[in-house]
Amino acid sequence: MASQTIRTTNGRGKLYDSILATIGDTPVVRINNLAPAGVRMYVKAEFFNPGASVKDRLAINIIEAAERAGTLKPGQTVVEATSGNTGIGLAMVCAQKGYKLVVTMADSFSVERRQLMRMMGAKVVLTPRAEKGTGMYKKAVELAEKHGWFLARQFETEANADIHESTTAREIIADFAGDRLDYVVSGYGTGGTITGLARVLRKERPETKIILTEPANAQLVGSGVAQTRGPDGGPAATHPSFEPHPIQGWTPDFIPNVLQECLDTGGYDKLIPIAGTEGIAWAKKLAQKEGILTGISGGATFAVAMEIARQAKQGSVVLAMLPDTGERYLTTPLFSDIAQDMDEEESEISRSTAGYQMS
Ligand code: PMP
Repeated sequence: MASQTIRTTNGRGKLYDSILATIGDTPVVRINNLAPAGVRMYVKAEFFNPGASVKDRLAINIIEAAERAGTLKPGQTVVEATSGNTGIGLAMVCAQKGYKLVVTMADSFSVERRQLMRMMGAKVVLTPRAEKGTGMYKKAVELAEKHGWFLARQFETEANADIHESTTAREIIADFAGDRLDYVVSGYGTGGTITGLARVLRKERPETKIILTEPANAQLVGSGVAQTRGPDGGPAATHPSFEPHPIQGWTPDFIPNVLQECLDTGGYDKLIPIAGTEGIAWAKKLAQKEGILTGISGGATFAVAMEIARQAKQGSVVLAMLPDTGERYLTTPLFSDIAQDMDEEESEISRSTAGYQMS
């Protein structure tokens, strides 16, 4: 364990103008119990964002870039296709700024995501899971065209990778200033995180190896097969290598245009696929051995970081992105063997004193 400190706190030394001002500046945290000997492992804990995921960064930037460009007018409705976290981030931003939000989402994503968006005032329009990511994407396009709504376009917009270039990557550069950083590991949903990180790290930390990962049963990038696209860069059809996978938020059924920049510019050094079951297993280990509660994509990213760490030279430093909180997965396979009722050991503890036992 890391050395203990006597805690005193002094506040943050400022008052925040709104919840939106608390987005970003997430902590990089040492892994103490799971890391192999001689290798320092860290995670960037994106669940410290107010909407508990990395997508808060994108949400605020899409809305504010559109406000600056005049493409989003006061009182206009925002519409977007999302696997959940972008919708939750947008719901937070739209609630604060007074925009209406309509989200299209395949009905396969966890129900707590829908409820969180509705809690923050969004309307959630479900699309059939058989139509996959392209189905929810095309529904959002249809709705925007029919009603004159502002389409957030997270899979194509420049506002996506830009915010990771100007915030996420800058935070990593600052936090590792003067220290080693041998590997950074990230998966992709839109590709905003990895593309933004690559832009900065390639210039300022050229020695850092950038590791990209994707689901073992949906190796879109690994297949080498190019994505077919419409005129606006959006997907024309499902990628032939796509299979449904349990890593919510990762790898839609197409290669996003935002990620394409990273692929075309050599923005990663190695692609390592990972099975969804490994993501679930490592999310549990992070929770139980480190007290770090992250989602399946965080577990999957960390699983790959562990593979890297086991093979890395002594003294190496490995950073894994943890995109969101594990609380977003209570109704998913991540929690399916976590009991609601007392198990034998808990019942025994209860019986070990006379009072207050369940009948
Ligand atoms: N994990 C989760 C849970 C996500 O919601 C997302 C975003 N869809 C990602 C990872 C990937 O982030 P990015 O879109 O920046 O590639």
